[in-house]
Amino acid sequence: MLLCIHFCFAQTAAEKLKVDALLKKMTIEEKVGQMTQVTLGVICTPQDGVLDTALLRKAIVDYKVGSVLNVTGHALSVDQWHTVITQIQDEAKNTRLNIPIIYGLDGIHGQTYTLNSTLFPQSIAMAATRNVDIAKQAAKITAMELRGSGVRWQFAPVLDCGRQPLWSRFPETYGEDVYIGKTMGAAVITGYEEDGLKNPGGVASCMKHYLGYSASRTGKDRTPIYMPEIEMREYYLPQFRDAIKAGATTLMVNSGEINGTPVHASKYLLTDVLRKELGFEGVIVSDWEDIIRLHTRHFVAKTPRDAVAMAVNAGVDMSMVPSDFSFYDLLLEAVKKGEVTQARIDDAVRRILLLKMKVGLFDNPYPEPAAAANFGKPEYQTVALNAAHEAMTLLKNKNNILPLAKSTHVLVVGPGAQSISALNGCWSYTWQGKEEQWYPLDSKTILQAIADKVRLGNAATVTVKGFDNAANYDVDKLKTAAADADVILLCLGENAYAESPGNTRDLALPDNQVKLAEAAAATGKPVILVLTEGRPRFITGIEPKMNGIIMAYWSGKKTAEAIADVLFGDYNPDGRLPFSYPRSMGEMVLYDRKPTEDIREIFNADMNQSGYDPMYPFGWGLSYTTFEYSDIQLSSSTLKGDASITVSVTVKNTGRRDGKNAVELYTHQQYSSITPNMQRLRAFKKILLKAGESQVVSFTLNKSDLAFVNAQLKTITEPGDFDIMIGGKKATFSYVQ
Ligand code: BGC
Repeated sequence: MLLCIHFCFAQTAAEKLKVDALLKKMTIEEKVGQMTQVTLGVICTPQDGVLDTALLRKAIVDYKVGSVLNVTGHALSVDQWHTVITQIQDEAKNTRLNIPIIYGLDGIHGQTYTLNSTLFPQSIAMAATRNVDIAKQAAKITAMELRGSGVRWQFAPVLDCGRQPLWSRFPETYGEDVYIGKTMGAAVITGYEEDGLKNPGGVASCMKHYLGYSASRTGKDRTPIYMPEIEMREYYLPQFRDAIKAGATTLMVNSGEINGTPVHASKYLLTDVLRKELGFEGVIVSDWEDIIRLHTRHFVAKTPRDAVAMAVNAGVDMSMVPSDFSFYDLLLEAVKKGEVTQARIDDAVRRILLLKMKVGLFDNPYPEPAAAANFGKPEYQTVALNAAHEAMTLLKNKNNILPLAKSTHVLVVGPGAQSISALNGCWSYTWQGKEEQWYPLDSKTILQAIADKVRLGNAATVTVKGFDNAANYDVDKLKTAAADADVILLCLGENAYAESPGNTRDLALPDNQVKLAEAAAATGKPVILVLTEGRPRFITGIEPKMNGIIMAYWSGKKTAEAIADVLFGDYNPDGRLPFSYPRSMGEMVLYDRKPTEDIREIFNADMNQSGYDPMYPFGWGLSYTTFEYSDIQLSSSTLKGDASITVSVTVKNTGRRDGKNAVELYTHQQYSSITPNMQRLRAFKKILLKAGESQVVSFTLNKSDLAFVNAQLKTITEPGDFDIMIGGKKATFSYVQ
């Protein structure tokens, strides 16, 4: 059970007094202005990040805008940010009530939009670490680098559940499992907020994108979701419920529609479920341009004003308009015509003012020297490296070809070998993350990290800069160069993308990459495949020909170093897949499948196979040492009512290297009123064991850890027999009420 221990959006008596007093003084125009958020481009000259004083005045003084977001084009330096924020807050002093502006940014895997910020593994890679502490540490650093830049509102974490790998925002998720998503999500929110929002280390978090955004039927970004409520409550809602309990201050709405209702127009989801059922008290902000799109894209609002009234009445407090002031004008009209009540406006503005108060803007709205001093500390690089190390997931190691001796002659091949952007992915100094000129100068490519490890001359190459450069796919050159090599290191995957530009028609690796892999295998030399990608791209045809495979994801600034450390044995890999690596479009079954997904009718040619037949299963990840699990013990054979039960297992490092191991506990209810999942991850702990060492690892479960959503849409635990599975060991107990 999570408790909101560090921060809650509830207002103190003093805050209530202040907010009430301010609200009383405000005109309707000032209130509607507070609900309006515009993008930086609206107040800038065409030059990047340079404010235009006339436009600034128009936004802040004339339209009384309460919030600004984003950048124009690419990351700014800390100093540039300070100038921007200072000018904006100075302008707010020219307004009647001096209400400060709240600035919001996407610090998705580090502070995206400040030059030389520290970029960590994307959430999908963070999930592979199974290390909640490191995710929280990274969040704290991100908070410090945001606040150090003068920004106090963080548009993260993404709590969308990654159950559709086609989705272009899959890398921003914690993968397919609910438990990992809610655990990592809550830890990250704590990391952003626990130092206190008034302090230089804190930023307001933003849970997003409520709700079901990741589950579009086609996998294309912002396309329709069809989802029965039982599925929504089982797999997509719990992350938000726990995030609210962890104290999350704000929430961003899903741009899509569920069962034909755009979420921005859903009073049921925004007010009934979110406010009343989950008890969320913070600010609800729309996503980009999504209110007007109720009229222009979704066609549920006949006029732009209807769209505005619909969203505000559904429960949206602030509109990320973001490129004009239409929301302000339309909402004013709607209020004057009685389509939106004063009470609803006051409710929204109260929350916005409280947020501004909570983050200390009323005390001092300007960039804080103490916060700036926290930016870019050298020790952050170590955290980034540790996180990247723990993300590396060794998928295959035939005949223990890895780790390689440093005397090995390596031929480095492929488009990923000299790319920085393909190691970092989306939200990296630009939205798309593709423009390498904005990355820190000391960012390394895989090739550079390898050259740092092995004697020069031990690495030859068939690689050039530029992911799409045809020279990267020169199979003849590969063949010739391979003659002198002991091993081919093949760097494939995806270059950076974000949101809709990352939509894909196919999860198969592009043909030119497959051909390169075939050519590498045809040389007869052992091939190690390194995948830097944000979602699983099918490798089914080439996988049998690879001797080793490292899934490196988009693991941030230190991806290349982490890959090289794993390749040459300076780090013993311990990442575990946070998703089922599918074989093909017809084999996209998830690990927590239903029993009938496992049944193949006897007429099928592949009748002996399990229905869960991914390339690599959820939780898969090899090590250079071996771990043995034994002696699974339960504190009792019965769990009664609200009591708890302890499960322990002995884990031994039976190999010759020290190593970390993520111990995962799965449960399975044998019979229940609706079909039980085959397994559900309910807990994990990552431990470090020296060679030969063993440790007893214990978990405590109570009935809420065994719950599911029943046909009446209630989250309940039904009496019955439960299997517990840890590392291939199994025990059974009964739950009685
Ligand atoms: C994304 C959000 C993001 C916003 C502001 C939108 O396109 O969906 O995740 O916070 O832009 O950058």
